[in-house]
Amino acid sequence: MRLILMGPPGAGKGTQAEKLQKELSIPHISTGDMFRKAIKEETELGKEAKKYLDSGALVPDEITVGIVKERLQEPDCNEGFMLDGFPRTVPQAEALEKTMADLDEKLDAVIYINVPKEKLIERLTGRRVCKNCGATYHVQFNPPKEEGNCDECGGELYQRSDDTVETVENRLNVYLENTRPLIDYYKEKGILKEIDGDQGVDKVFEDIQNYLRRD
Ligand SMILES: [Zn+2]
Repeated sequence: MRLILMGPPGAGKGTQAEKLQKELSIPHISTGDMFRKAIKEETELGKEAKKYLDSGALVPDEITVGIVKERLQEPDCNEGFMLDGFPRTVPQAEALEKTMADLDEKLDAVIYINVPKEKLIERLTGRRVCKNCGATYHVQFNPPKEEGNCDECGGELYQRSDDTVETVENRLNVYLENTRPLIDYYKEKGILKEIDGDQGVDKVFEDIQNYLRRD
């Protein structure tokens, strides 16, 4: 099974990726992990990527795609893989398609976990973090026993500055704007599957599995 997993911040993509990885026994390949690995192993492309990252610049597509290609050829990808965070743009998607064609492979599905924006804002702004131990809570979905205080250590809970409504809304708008062309691209290819992410974690997982098991 060769998959791409997509979804806005707060849609629960990380949780679903973890569950899918276990269920399907395929590696979960996030862009961040991939870069870290290539840099740590000092591959040619890893060294190139590091130069850009160190200077705070965007890593050019050809390097990113090269790193993806190397990763997809590792033995643990023989039975498939799940990409997360790549591709981000249509040119990257085209490059991925070409790379996979070179490897005689084809994507089986692009899963987009969709959650209405208002719900995402609710999820993301409800997060509270313990000042003392870093434990995280959610005012609605995972509240502490005593309001404002950490269950673990009694520390004071606070809202991170990037979890405020304004910041969250900006972050979501940027994500949705940047992602729309990619969604349309995969829709046209007929491999995009939107999953309703506005449900419990287990129901979302069930829907994804039912889709992957179709036919
Ligand atoms: Zn605490």
